[in-house]
Amino acid sequence: MKAVVIHPPHELRVEDTALGECGPGQAAVPIRAGGICGSDLHYYRHGGFGAVRVKEPMVLGHEVAGEVLAVAPDVGRVKVGDRVAVNPSRPCGRCRYCAERLFNHCENMRFYGSAMPFPHIQGAFRETLVCDASQCEIGPPGISFELLALCEPLSVVLHGIGRAAPLAGKRVLVTGSGPIGGLAAPPLRHGGAAGAVPTDVPGEPPSVATRLGADRTIDVAAEPEALAAYAAGKGTFDLLVECSGNGEAIRGAIPTLRPRGAIVQLGIAGGDVALPLNTIVSKELALLGSFRFHEEFATAAKLIGSGALDLSPLLTGTYPVDQAIAAFELAGDRRRAMKVHLAF
Ligand code: ZN
Repeated sequence: MKAVVIHPPHELRVEDTALGECGPGQAAVPIRAGGICGSDLHYYRHGGFGAVRVKEPMVLGHEVAGEVLAVAPDVGRVKVGDRVAVNPSRPCGRCRYCAERLFNHCENMRFYGSAMPFPHIQGAFRETLVCDASQCEIGPPGISFELLALCEPLSVVLHGIGRAAPLAGKRVLVTGSGPIGGLAAPPLRHGGAAGAVPTDVPGEPPSVATRLGADRTIDVAAEPEALAAYAAGKGTFDLLVECSGNGEAIRGAIPTLRPRGAIVQLGIAGGDVALPLNTIVSKELALLGSFRFHEEFATAAKLIGSGALDLSPLLTGTYPVDQAIAAFELAGDRRRAMKVHLAF
């Protein structure tokens, strides 16, 4: 069975790996679409991010969907032929944070394709994934596997904007024009936000962001005065959804926030970032980190499966697994790509 494996320090190979046994409570899911995420790209390009380093070969991937091939006899939840998105979040259910239902903070989290713990947690970019049936969210018959695979990044966004709930009537600025920033506008609209303006949008993605429901887009490098206009009168936006992790983008956005506004920090930086602390104090801004998700995955599957959110403008293309390196190169080019998928 083929799998996409990162070797330290950052060499990507398509390799044969063993297919696991389908044990009690489990399903075997041939993967039809696997979305390449920013963290996969960090492992590929730099061997990790921040203090996280790839120290042993690791199968990448955590944004996957497939068609169920087999289920254990005790599984009633999913059946053969179901199209499913597989939740990569696997908390232990026993630690103190699981007991508090803060599952994304599980002390023993086994999130697919993560080099945070050692041994690393092997990922889901493989021909067939054996997983717990409870991880599977069922989509409607015939749904695109690529759309189903967007359940994972959409869950990240849902968790983030949920940190700043309620959204009704809020004016929102989104920084960062990658897939997470692109995915922000549809659920913000759905949640009742008054509007969303993504910034930091070079090349092609502006049209994508607009098709996804953004009011307008601002290429900060090309038109810095467009963003500065929102800083008049102590600011315009109630909420900043920060998806870039870029210090310059964050510092540029903070003056556009109104007093008592909030920042949801989704973007991850390579290291520490300097922030204008005195502005945060004097404007009484709330700074809210956001990390992964858990129960939002089922919500994401409902929003995508029902067609309540149309995320198709985000899809760039799907490549056979043997072209994994070309697909990773494309996924890393923000001027040409939003979300690139691998097919197995
Ligand atoms: Zn736990």
